[in-house]
Parts: sequence; structure tokens; C-alpha cells
Amino acid sequence: MISVLILLLVNLWYEVDGRRWAYAGCGLNLTTLPPMWQDIVRQAMQTWNGAGSTFHFDEEAGQNSVVCFNQGRWNGRLGLTQSVPQTRDALLRRANTVLNTFWQFDPPHPDEVGAQYGVPYDLQTVVAHELGHMLVLKHSTDEGALMHPVLPSGLQKGLSQDDVDGIRYLYRS
Ligand SMILES: [Zn+2]
Repeated sequence: MISVLILLLVNLWYEVDGRRWAYAGCGLNLTTLPPMWQDIVRQAMQTWNGAGSTFHFDEEAGQNSVVCFNQGRWNGRLGLTQSVPQTRDALLRRANTVLNTFWQFDPPHPDEVGAQYGVPYDLQTVVAHELGHMLVLKHSTDEGALMHPVLPSGLQKGLSQDDVDGIRYLYRS
């Protein structure tokens, strides 16, 4: 009985709302990003693609995109992902991520200086977190998870077991 309870708790960290991509895939348009940032996004895509689920991010000249803008302080947001539709259990049609160049990232944006508060934010970690929202994973209460809502500057994170459990739950292999 005790071991069953522990298993249930482990599985309760990540959160989903039943929305999914048809065909377990999403093509992203990266063409408006600086080339070095495109490479970082590709690495973040590979991170999720290697998580052992059926889901696959690809690059494609469509309307799903990762872009960057200076959004000001934006309540401390480093990035934001919006997906359509918002209805529970729906099949997703579109998703977009905005990276907020108000903040300073590593590697830096070639043209935007970015507000400096100590160490820059790790761009690949921020992008991988936002791609998790594209999947549609919600915030996790597991502090070690990529999908935890708070990212200290300078911290690099990869997928935790919780993140892997989340994507595998959504897109079972
Ligand atoms: Zn988030």
C-alpha cells in the first residue's frame, strides 16, 4: 500500500489538461530569430525529442513560431507560450513562444543588450521550459523539474524524471 502511494505522488507533480497535438508533432518557424538563438532552440527541441515519447518537434515555415521581443519587465517573465485552442481535451492548432529580450540571456542576443541583474539567464533552459508549455505541460511543483515556474539566473536545467514522465504520459511510445 505504501509503495502504491509513493508512485501516485511521484506522478502528481507535472500537470496536463488533456490538450494534445494531432499526430504527436509540432513544426516550429524559427526564421525571425538570430542564427545563434535558432541553434539554441534546435537543441531544446532535441531535448524533448529525446525524451522517449512519440512526440517530435520539427522545423517548418508554418505559423507555429518561437520569436523574441523586448516586452519590458513583463512581471518578470522570461518567455511566454500561448496555444490555441484553450479548451480542455482539444487538439491543438497553433502555438507561439515569445522570448523577452528585456532580460539578459546566455548566449546574448546579438542586438539587444538586455537588463543585467547578475548572471544572465540560460537561454536553452528558458526555451526548453517554453517548449514544455507548447506540449502542453503546465507548471510542476517539483523544484528540480524544467517545468518548475521559477528559474534562478545562471541555472542550467535539463529534463528531470518529472518532465520525462509528463511528455511520456501525453505521448506514449
Ligand atoms: Zn512556465
